[in-house]
Amino acid sequence: MEYDCGFNTKLLHGKTSKGFPNREILPPISQVTAFRYDSMEELERVFLHKSMGYAYSRIGNPTITAFEQRIQELEGGAGAVCCSSGMSAITAALLSICESGDEIIAGNCLYGGTIGLFHDLEKWGIHIVSVKDLTEETVKPLINAHTKAIFGELISNPSLKVMNVPSISRLAHEAGIPLIVDSTTATPFIARPLELGADIVIHSTSKYLNGGGNSIGGVIVDGGTFRWNFEKHTALREFKKFGKLALSVRLRTDTWENLGGCMAPMNAFLSYIGTDTLGLRMQRICENADRLAHALDQMKGIQVSYLTLPSHPCYEEAKDILDGYGGGILSFRAGSKERAFRIINSLKYACIASNIGDVRTLVIHPASTLYIQASKEEMQAAGVYEDTVRVSVGIESADDLIADFTEAINNSREGKEDENYSFR
Ligand SMILES: *Cc1c(COP(=O)(O)O)cnc(C)c1O
Repeated sequence: MEYDCGFNTKLLHGKTSKGFPNREILPPISQVTAFRYDSMEELERVFLHKSMGYAYSRIGNPTITAFEQRIQELEGGAGAVCCSSGMSAITAALLSICESGDEIIAGNCLYGGTIGLFHDLEKWGIHIVSVKDLTEETVKPLINAHTKAIFGELISNPSLKVMNVPSISRLAHEAGIPLIVDSTTATPFIARPLELGADIVIHSTSKYLNGGGNSIGGVIVDGGTFRWNFEKHTALREFKKFGKLALSVRLRTDTWENLGGCMAPMNAFLSYIGTDTLGLRMQRICENADRLAHALDQMKGIQVSYLTLPSHPCYEEAKDILDGYGGGILSFRAGSKERAFRIINSLKYACIASNIGDVRTLVIHPASTLYIQASKEEMQAAGVYEDTVRVSVGIESADDLIADFTEAINNSREGKEDENYSFR
């Protein structure tokens, strides 16, 4: 793990962290619904996009703009829109590119909410072709004339499958299809999917970007480099004159605006100040997770899954694509649901919560919560078993976390048989 390579400097002093109207160090909170104009002519010019200006906060707001520009700069994109949630971002992105009759190839052990959205999209005539692992071999045979996008998560959770973005994007581009990457669990600190070849990046800012667990939000970053074929991508035909920026313009002036999933100005502010420490937090979180995973891996009677453990199936991909960082999520199997509950209940420093990406360590039993609606097959495909414990590692002292988990696991043993759990 190299030190941050200038990430924090660029983040704090990048061009989008300057230029606020009264030289504020942070973007002022424009907690308003609408903006007042001196003349009707001026407001008309704003509506005609002939002059820059804000009219109504669902369509644009300076605090939200500041956060959008910061994430756009971090990801290296050409345009960004903030959304009310990560789900709202995924919805707006997919509905901007696809229309009834189109297909999306999607996979890599997706977030439960995304799987739920896909059931809705099916009802609206957009067909989802699901694959368990998004690889060149699995995706290639599924591409046809109706395929309009490939969607996947860079690091899935809790199974921690790492998408090989360079190879999938190459395949996608050969077929004239954009690759959309949900990079929520990776964050731009660990990997920048646009640099790896993806065309659109999505985040739930509710997680690591905000980091403080204080607001729901999402963002879509358009790389602005995909060559849309407007005969194929008919959903964007009206935006043909904008060329490579067709998606950004459609989002901004059409789908995103009309769907109404804007971010709240206060949430944009809270998320903006949250990202100030993104590099520091991610560095610490990854180090903590790595140390905790290696410590737990020494213990008998549990089975640990984390990307920097050589036993993990995506260990090599993580080295290649994630610069050796493993991210903030690890999981372990405890042998039984009862033992998983006992461990979770006796942890001192981990909060029992369904979120990820907080500064505090969070822990949950996914099978009885996040996957309560899922079938056994869906659960297994997502790498979730009856005895899986998911940990979203925080920034506490690693020694304290290791001591806490070690004690909870040791105290949860009921007898010698615990040493001989089989994990099938
Ligand atoms: C949380 C999450 C989402 C959804 O984001 P919300 O802000 O909760 O709507 C989407 N994708 C991933 C990978 C997530 O972790």
